[in-house]
Amino acid sequence: MHQKLPKEIDPFRLAQNGLTLEGQLPIAEMVRLSKSLQSDEGWVNVRLGFDVDEVGTPYMRGEFNTSVSVICERCMNSMILEMTVDCLLAMVSSERKVEGLAEQYDPWIIENNDPVLLSAVIEDELILSLPLVPRHTEACLPEEAWSVGDEQVELKDSDKAASPFAVLSALKIKQ
Ligand SMILES: [Zn+2]
Repeated sequence: MHQKLPKEIDPFRLAQNGLTLEGQLPIAEMVRLSKSLQSDEGWVNVRLGFDVDEVGTPYMRGEFNTSVSVICERCMNSMILEMTVDCLLAMVSSERKVEGLAEQYDPWIIENNDPVLLSAVIEDELILSLPLVPRHTEACLPEEAWSVGDEQVELKDSDKAASPFAVLSALKIKQ
């Protein structure tokens, strides 16, 4: 069973009331995120704590985790990426107020009183956390397929370092 979250929220009111929302969101609802994924199947587990801090700043602490399917840029096969995202967002009503925020916060600018689409906030945070170049953590190609490339690069580097002229001129400078 998936626990439903409200589609739209009033973040300021949630913060004033110190409420916590917990539930799951389908990845399929996050169209922008899905574009970077191989499949839009799956769910995001969401926990959002709203409160007001001691200096009166309303904030939201978000914890999301999910597994998404992306393409490994090394072997071009699909891979499962486990994502855990923590964020701490301070709600401000205008860009001008961002400067006054304590530094532990990322700003969340909410410029009018319209309800906020909850999935969009979570989607933004997940997109920010996606690796630029997703890759398997293990060696996903046969060793010879990628050690050739690496060796060539290494050879060039060591050539430079081992050049007798380079060593000689370094010695000269020292003296
Ligand atoms: Zn791979």
